[in-house]
Amino acid sequence: MHTSSSLFSPLPTSSTAPCPAPTAASSGLQNIKVDLLVVGASFAGLACARAAALAGLSVMVLEKKTSAGAKLHTTGIIVKDAVDSVPWLAEVPPALVRRIEGVRLYAPNMRHVDLHAPGYWFWATDAPALLDWMVDSARASGVDVRLGTLFEQALWMDGRWEVPVMHGPCITATYIVGADGPHSRVAKALGLSRNTRFLYGVEHEYQGARMAPDLLHCFIDRKLAPGYIGWALDGVGVSQIGLARRMGQDDANALRLAPLLKKIESVVTPGDAPPVAVRAGMIPCGGVLPVVARERALLVGDAAGMVSPVTAGGIHTALQHGERAGEAVARFVRGEVGDPATWFVRSYPRFLLKRSLRWAFDHFQSDWMFNHLLGTPQMRRMAELIYFHRKGGPLPKN
Ligand SMILES: Cc1cc2nc3c(=O)[nH]c(=O)nc-3n(C[C@H](O)[C@H](O)[C@H](O)COP(=O)(O)OP(=O)(O)OC[C@H]3O[C@@H](n4cnc5c(N)ncnc54)[C@H](O)[C@@H]3O)c2cc1C
Repeated sequence: MHTSSSLFSPLPTSSTAPCPAPTAASSGLQNIKVDLLVVGASFAGLACARAAALAGLSVMVLEKKTSAGAKLHTTGIIVKDAVDSVPWLAEVPPALVRRIEGVRLYAPNMRHVDLHAPGYWFWATDAPALLDWMVDSARASGVDVRLGTLFEQALWMDGRWEVPVMHGPCITATYIVGADGPHSRVAKALGLSRNTRFLYGVEHEYQGARMAPDLLHCFIDRKLAPGYIGWALDGVGVSQIGLARRMGQDDANALRLAPLLKKIESVVTPGDAPPVAVRAGMIPCGGVLPVVARERALLVGDAAGMVSPVTAGGIHTALQHGERAGEAVARFVRGEVGDPATWFVRSYPRFLLKRSLRWAFDHFQSDWMFNHLLGTPQMRRMAELIYFHRKGGPLPKN
């Protein structure tokens, strides 16, 4: 169990200013001062930046890719709890999402059960277009989003952060939020904890694949996807078929989609054409990291390890806690509360039950067990809890 003090680390300092004082030649044009600097223009970073800008802060986002929707590593499924709890999602254009009504869960021997919960559904999304829309929406709220801009370092100087950017301005910020994903550069630069336990996932996008529609098809198989599952769904404009597995040191090349496609060909066929795109990436699965904040800086989303250790879903928590982080930083900058680094991070999910389930799955995953127990009421209940579990609570008092 984390305590607030173990989540918080004291401050790094520097005696050399990375941002040069304005000269007559530069006339100060190369220095930009903001209340909040967010690193990473994805779910966590954009939700945070938008919330802070709506609360009146000057906010800049640095994103290393030239488009937020490029080279994505996510399937992009958004759970109903997120749609219910993140008001921003009510503004998403309907063309970017479609409803998935339930889950068809296959045992290793391909017997299946259908799981539904009354009134529950998931969103499949056009994730690249959704992220580009989120950038536009954040900009419309006043956020200065700088695409194609790599964050490398930040130094604490005279009560503020100084962030030099290659071929760009030197940024002075009151607060920094690292929302830069599983291998966070902000965490490294600020001496915060970094993710070490991962699942690795790969997914192909097909046009013309065939499967029973409106369902998320999930395949349990200890050989093909140790520690996780394979999946297939009709998404928005494309079908997505993928799998993920636990990563050990020698497993980098061990994830292959072809054996899964062969195994599931009786229920999912990708069609004759090759995939139109591939998404792949690492998913932190060790839970929230021990040290996710220091004075005037905090991590959120995958950078903080904020991914469900069981479902590997991180978009809901990234959006929800990103938005709340933006609001908390705004209240701090306005002088209403103390530094969120000391109190806000206590609201991060602990995933206690899910971490226990991950431990059990890692140690005792058994194809025999799933083949024999999948249809039982107990196993169905467990699966429904994992897929449809509701979570989330109010902000802690500072
Ligand atoms: C194969 C796969 C499938 C998944 N499917 C789902 C799913 O269906 N549903 C779900 O809920 N979760 C899913 N996840 C997890 C989900 O994608 C993540 O939890 C979520 O994207 C986290 O959002 P984030 O904003 O914290 O970080 P990220 O989405 O990782 O974004 C980090 C951003 O920071 C940028 N960045 C990184 N370093 C720098 C730097 N130095 N300077 C500037 N910018 C930088 C990156 O380019 C990126 O845009 C999946 C993950 C994988 C790998």
